Amino acid sequence: MNDKMEQEKLDKRLSRIKHKVLVLSGKGGVGKSTIAVNLAVALAAAGKKVGLLDVDIHGPSVPKMLGLENMPLHGTGESISPLEVGDNLRVMSIGLLLRNTDDAVIWRGPMKMGVIKQFLSDVEWGDLDYLVIDSPPGTGDEPLSVAQLVPDADGAVIVTTPQSVALIDVRKCVTFCKQLNLPVIGVVENMSGFVCPHCGERTEIFKSGGGGEMAADMNIPFLGAIPFDPGVVDAADMGEPYIVKHPESEVGKIFAALAAPLLSLKKREIVAATSNGGSRTSYSDGSGTMKIALPVDGGRVSGHFGHAEKFAFFEVDCSSNAIAGSSEAVPPPHEEGAIPEWLRDQGINLVIAGGLGVKAKQLFKGMGIDVVAGAPQDEPASVVRSHLDGTLQSGDNACGHGVGDRADDGSGGGCGGGGQGGCGGR
Ligand code: ADP
Repeated sequence: MNDKMEQEKLDKRLSRIKHKVLVLSGKGGVGKSTIAVNLAVALAAAGKKVGLLDVDIHGPSVPKMLGLENMPLHGTGESISPLEVGDNLRVMSIGLLLRNTDDAVIWRGPMKMGVIKQFLSDVEWGDLDYLVIDSPPGTGDEPLSVAQLVPDADGAVIVTTPQSVALIDVRKCVTFCKQLNLPVIGVVENMSGFVCPHCGERTEIFKSGGGGEMAADMNIPFLGAIPFDPGVVDAADMGEPYIVKHPESEVGKIFAALAAPLLSLKKREIVAATSNGGSRTSYSDGSGTMKIALPVDGGRVSGHFGHAEKFAFFEVDCSSNAIAGSSEAVPPPHEEGAIPEWLRDQGINLVIAGGLGVKAKQLFKGMGIDVVAGAPQDEPASVVRSHLDGTLQSGDNACGHGVGDRADDGSGGGCGGGGQGGCGGR
């Protein structure tokens, strides 16, 4: 199956899931899988249909934590069925498929990406309210591929421990989410102090509170602090979620409370558009609108993305597929990555351009912003209207310069030709 077909298969499966949430951590061993498992169980206990997907390619611990290690898998040649745990929870882990996860250590990047992609697209979830994804730790290529493969994820729950070394990693995690246009649902501080099971006294084994301070500092929600509790290790070793075993304990109640912000999530979905032959060209973030940006020179779509005198913004009402408002703004000076970042900060979901550099296209993809390149140099509103009604003639051009002889600057500037398919600036 080629890349496009696999992506379509994945999109089709994911379109049946209302909310997708990534559980991330700056590094391994901080309790990411523990939080993912207990979060998924808490959502299922609230009556939601939940999937738990463990893509932690180097340390898939979900099967062990749920006592599923030796369960047989069923599937057709095209798909695999998740395992059913209770009435509302379906679970799949890459650890159930890979015979030896130690192999992953020696795989080269593209091979890991291929495995992650195939795994994501092969699991037949059916209709779900929530998919909780236990991602690989860190901010490298592996979590990046997961986030890119699920571009309409509602957001990320970031797990950290309170030590400052872990907090440095969590800052990277927040930046990673920002660059991908992935909302941060909040930060959880795990192993935050130790409550003595005998006398109930709390001891701060690491300096606690750092997660909360960091969340306030970075202006992101703090979801709670979970103390170190030996019962968490016992429950994991016995294959029973802590929250089921000790629902009334202090830690059990904190786990349950973590699900609250997820239960109130608004739907963030990709809506299909008909132009440029693509199926994924616009987003609705629950407000029912999407924002399109076009570079403009002399009142027309510019062929020089990085040097356009201004940008036109159009707000589109997704229910009627019509333009609901428009504005213009002057972009920042032409520097590496500056315009893509500026457009992301404006909340743009789609860029329609004349000529656009390969690097800029990749940057936009990484930010979850879709791109239609090779649009004609017409009046911007009419280009947007053609895009919305599916009649836009766009050539899928990529500015050739920067490939081979020099790196493109990430702002896509300097495309000589522009216009339809026209990027002749080499
Ligand atoms: P990660 O997914 O970040 O690698 P895990 O969830 O696998 O981390 O947790 C690592 C270890 O720490 C496991 O043995 C788990 O049972 C234990 N653990 C996680 N959270 C707690 C906690 N709050 N109290 C005690 N042990 C914990």
